[in-house]
Amino acid sequence: MTWCGRPPRRSSSLSTRITVAPHTAAPLLPIRSLTVSTVTFDAVLFDLDGTLIRRTQDTAALYERAFERVGVDPFAAPEALWSVLDGPPDPGDQVGYLGAGFARLAAQHGRHVDTVALAEAFVAEVDNSQVTFRDDAPAALDAACETAATAVLTNGPELRQADKIGAVGLADRVDSVVYAGDMPRRKPHAAPFEKTVSSLGVPADRALYVGDSLGYDVAGAHNAGLAAAYLGDEPTPYSPEYVLESLADLPQILR
Ligand SMILES: [Mg+2]
Repeated sequence: MTWCGRPPRRSSSLSTRITVAPHTAAPLLPIRSLTVSTVTFDAVLFDLDGTLIRRTQDTAALYERAFERVGVDPFAAPEALWSVLDGPPDPGDQVGYLGAGFARLAAQHGRHVDTVALAEAFVAEVDNSQVTFRDDAPAALDAACETAATAVLTNGPELRQADKIGAVGLADRVDSVVYAGDMPRRKPHAAPFEKTVSSLGVPADRALYVGDSLGYDVAGAHNAGLAAAYLGDEPTPYSPEYVLESLADLPQILR
């Protein structure tokens, strides 16, 4: 374990009030003000997709090539597909997830085509190495490394996610990478979180999970006894300890 080159700073026993405020004058969510028992975490875990990285591949061109591969004229604009997909991607069934969207579009346009073949062609065109860090991700990783053990916990399988991690050199920046897609249960089940904190030798209640999904990241972290930092602005029935407008908000939590 590298601890990013130096041992983690131990936690203060002081109780501290931390406010994480969105930078905008009119935040979509109320400013969170909460009392926490310590000022640092012994481990910081990050979600991958949408939290640390984003795709750079031209998805509109990818969409067109999927139709070319199956020899079908496109029957809608790419944006129409995104709008009929069900929530976040299903990491266990990409073809089924996209195929359902293509099926809805085909029905809307009165077309009878093999929508599963379309989805398979789309998935085949995806290049998982075409990703880059989200803004402020490197600085957030550096800040986490200065105070805690760090890990990436992603719901995808290694077969797909390792290309992304390799493309941005992420394996060298964290102490552990866990691919929940290769486990019997993924987020929001507790098992992947438990495996990750165990790999770091840190109790769950001393760890913070940072992610952009309420239903997978916040729900899963709380199921496993971790604190949660939600990166996003969706209305939430959950109670994440922190709400981040961007990863630039993270360092102030970790000080
Ligand atoms: Mg995500």
